[in-house]
Amino acid sequence: MKEKFILTFDLEFWHNSGFLKKYLPKDKNFSKDYIIESTEPILDLLNKYGHKATFFVLGRVAEKYPELIKKINNSGHEIGSHGYSHCSFFELNEEKLEKEIEITNTILKKITGKNPKGFRAPNFSLGEKTKWALKIIKKHFQYDSSLNPLSFSKLSMPVPEIAPSLGGIYFRILPLKLYLFLANLLSKQKPPVLYFHPYELFESSPKIDAGPWYKRKIKYWGTKTAWKKFEKLMGGFRFISYENFINQSAD
Ligand SMILES: [Zn+2]
Repeated sequence: MKEKFILTFDLEFWHNSGFLKKYLPKDKNFSKDYIIESTEPILDLLNKYGHKATFFVLGRVAEKYPELIKKINNSGHEIGSHGYSHCSFFELNEEKLEKEIEITNTILKKITGKNPKGFRAPNFSLGEKTKWALKIIKKHFQYDSSLNPLSFSKLSMPVPEIAPSLGGIYFRILPLKLYLFLANLLSKQKPPVLYFHPYELFESSPKIDAGPWYKRKIKYWGTKTAWKKFEKLMGGFRFISYENFINQSAD
């Protein structure tokens, strides 16, 4: 039996990435966002192998591409919430966060017919300093997937925490075997939760040419070979959504 992982994606715009955000040029044309181009091949690949995944969808993406979200949902994947605007919790307060969550849930429910069960905060911004957010997460969701495994947070969560393990940046930088070994080692959750952004697996995603060279180097390392590596990953292991995992555990 092939080793199993929980597969998750943050479905957001390429310019939502927090790593180089402050270097985004003001005059950059963001209308070409490659959401469809970067997500469709992933859906095809998941379909080819019969894998399922959880997509934490940004409200703004769902608003612009309802048909894509419908397709993801109809393919048997789970739709979770990634908030509305990708604002970090540090820029929000209780009232603003709740508004973000309610707007996004309304948009997603209109598309899929149901409220999302899971939530993932933008930019790993849930932590000790933003724990005011916990009661809002508890009010609207059945599980959370926000805590950075490398922060070793001791936050006491009011709903089950399905912490993501190593994400796409480590996937691109490390050899595949080492990436999976570390993802297993660091994961509090078995099977470990892998997370990716469609834009980081899509070679033609727009790149930012400002900011420190080393940051750009890390950010774009391995983007040319990321898709081939992802195909290899998908072909070699089994992947399920978080919803599948819970349903299997309940059997
Ligand atoms: Zn995000």
